[in-house]
Amino acid sequence: MTTPESKKPTPDHARNLFAAHGLKLTHQRLEIYSELTAACDHPCAETVWRRVRERVPTISLDTVYRTLAVLREHGLAARVPMDGDTARFDGDISPHHHLACECCGRIDDLPISEFDPAALQESVAGWGRVRDAQVVIRGICCRCLESGAGDRGLADGEPAPVPGESAKIQ
Ligand SMILES: [Zn+2]
Ligand SMILES: [Zn+2]
Repeated sequence: MTTPESKKPTPDHARNLFAAHGLKLTHQRLEIYSELTAACDHPCAETVWRRVRERVPTISLDTVYRTLAVLREHGLAARVPMDGDTARFDGDISPHHHLACECCGRIDDLPISEFDPAALQESVAGWGRVRDAQVVIRGICCRCLESGAGDRGLADGEPAPVPGESAKIQ
């Protein structure tokens, strides 16, 4: 697991990055982008909205949704490949895997080296060529296990944690 650390971009960095993608850097976009890249918890759109609203009270949830979609389109943000209705976003676009707690919904990063997509190539050679692979490991996190919440989480018939793979670009 990687240690959470703030990756907040400087406004200059963001300006250059947005310019390179032909995107206008509005104040709201900068706030959303900064919030997402600084977050270590893979927030959903609503969480991003709540956090940005503390600094930009006029921002709408719709703007956050649209901005996240634009960021994804340009490869400046990623969506964690998870099932479920609530999309979770990642400001860290470097290749990495995820550990997802089915009990509290927390998502942590797992270094790409743990499941090297290059090592996968050999076993799927008959199928084709691997571009990338992102694994989501589902289970119960330590905090939930310690609090006993994990027992309840496992009781509702969820399948055992199985590494799932899905294409990174969705
Ligand atoms: Zn948990
Ligand atoms: Zn991540």
